[in-house]
Amino acid sequence: MRPIPLSALQHHAFCPRQCALIHNEQAWADNFLTAQGNALHERVDNGEPEIRKGIRFERNVHVCAEKWGLTGILDMVEHDLHSGSLKPVEYKRGKPKPTPIDEIQLCAQALCLEEMTGKTITEGALWYGQTRHRVCVAFSDSLKAQTTEIITQVQQLLNSQHTPPPQYGKHCKACSLVEICQPKLFNQDRSPHYTAQLFGED
Ligand code: SF4
Repeated sequence: MRPIPLSALQHHAFCPRQCALIHNEQAWADNFLTAQGNALHERVDNGEPEIRKGIRFERNVHVCAEKWGLTGILDMVEHDLHSGSLKPVEYKRGKPKPTPIDEIQLCAQALCLEEMTGKTITEGALWYGQTRHRVCVAFSDSLKAQTTEIITQVQQLLNSQHTPPPQYGKHCKACSLVEICQPKLFNQDRSPHYTAQLFGED
């Protein structure tokens, strides 16, 4: 199975076309939102491991899970040296979202850690830069089921090698790939209709 990056889950939730453009067509462009996110992650990633109050804070942790076909780098893993428990922590530029995609991405990180360590990961945390707030996330059975469902959808999309057509909407204004995607132009494209007429399929 082709391993997919953990980040593809977020990209898919934002827009399946964006996910396919980035992960199948290797398209990338930055905008001010991605630049802010990069700056935040650089601050986090450059930190060395440290131990405070019996917790070891491990940054920039590389993970790979064959069972789930996932690979990626975790912002931080907190290792409780007394209980041995592990807790993934993900840093986000913005604020909590109306959908549970951040929780799903964090849960996917936990699935990777579980496969690699053989431990059960019961909770993690999301830290939001805009609200400067940490949110605890419990990895319930329903969140794990939602997460595996999304992983399957993303794998199906990326393995299909098909880039879906754009669905122009408000999210396009925040998309760093808007110049590459050209959603408005694509929607005005009459060539499929023209070729269908030409070959008598219309
Ligand atoms: S511009 Fe819109 S349709 Fe195109 S990839 Fe970005 S979000 Fe998706």
